[in-house]
Amino acid sequence: MTDWSTKLIHSGAHAATGFSSLTIPVYRGSTVVFSSAAAANDDWREEAGYTYGLFGTPTARELAARIAQLEGGRWTFLTPCGQASIALIYLAFARAGDHVLVPDSVYGPNRQFATGVMRGVGVDVEFYPPLIGGGVAALLRSNTRLIWCESPGSVTMEVQDVPAIAGAAHERGVTVALDNTYAAGIYFDSFSHGVDVTMQALTKYVGGHSDLLLGSVTVRDEVLYERLGPVHSGLGYAVSPDECSLALRGLQTLAVRLSAVEKTAITLAQWLAARPEVETVLHPAMPTCPGHELWKRDFTGSTSIFSIVFREGTTRQAIVAFVDALTLFKIGYSWGGVTSLVVPWFGLERTHGHPYGQRVVRFNVGLEHVDDLIADLDNALRHLVDR
Ligand SMILES: *Cc1c(COP(=O)(O)O)cnc(C)c1O
Repeated sequence: MTDWSTKLIHSGAHAATGFSSLTIPVYRGSTVVFSSAAAANDDWREEAGYTYGLFGTPTARELAARIAQLEGGRWTFLTPCGQASIALIYLAFARAGDHVLVPDSVYGPNRQFATGVMRGVGVDVEFYPPLIGGGVAALLRSNTRLIWCESPGSVTMEVQDVPAIAGAAHERGVTVALDNTYAAGIYFDSFSHGVDVTMQALTKYVGGHSDLLLGSVTVRDEVLYERLGPVHSGLGYAVSPDECSLALRGLQTLAVRLSAVEKTAITLAQWLAARPEVETVLHPAMPTCPGHELWKRDFTGSTSIFSIVFREGTTRQAIVAFVDALTLFKIGYSWGGVTSLVVPWFGLERTHGHPYGQRVVRFNVGLEHVDDLIADLDNALRHLVDR
């Protein structure tokens, strides 16, 4: 006789197996049960099968496999958020004494991690002008190990010549990493353009509904896979199966969401470009965006974010009044969800400077009707005055 308290743990009762769901179930689990003592192992590698929850549940592995396939990679590591993916790449590819090149238009928290943590552990971090292209060759040193690209850049949207940068890097054996969040890993084919390690914040377009945080890091090369794996597991980058399940759901509607936001964003960008209050529009699909020709050459689409620069003389106070007068555009960071967002960017950090003063406002376009968004902008522009 087994006591009822033991039965709570070792029940002989089981539901029927064979439920073949159309969707991927949420598998929870830290411990994996092995069929025999000989089969027990603690290898992080995908090829080792399931060994421990940290190295992937079926829900996480399914998402990772789908991201790898979409991005044309061989292996994808999932991380708790896009920023965690950035940190993973730094820690896997840069050591004390190494030199790392980072575009000046990089995502703010990437810059902060580079100048804070990486410099703190003895890595020499240098910011380069994002439009440098093959000219990056002149910045390479004998100890350069990693070049970051982010295209288009955060907020100021510079489109980079990634193939030229990768060409220069590979001549010297330097690893090229790309933050491909803008393109959702879809509209810019990282590997065919020479990138070695590509990451994205799945938080944005793959999640798609502003209700999860996840990141990915994808590679094709086995040497890079072996470099990333121990750092990924050593950092304890576990991901929740619930978040992965939501991201898998997000993938199912990614195509229709991306095509909808692309259309609306271009319409709004063109409408704003025609307004006398606006000096320029920084949208990769418009000729006024630095690097637009490269976008035409290398990208297969544009997405939901773009910035505008108000004309010279527009005060910070006037921009605050404009942003506060918007009602459909909510004021908030992050992007890629269904809700239109706006952020005034008064504190742009650029080592090499920028010509935009404190007149930059960034928009994320959601799934609202384009006419309503235009009406919202039109009304708010009337408030673009000093109070
Ligand atoms: C949002 C974002 C990240 C970070 O993603 P989180 O999931 O929010 O940590 C990284 N890179 C870019 C370009 C981003 O916009």
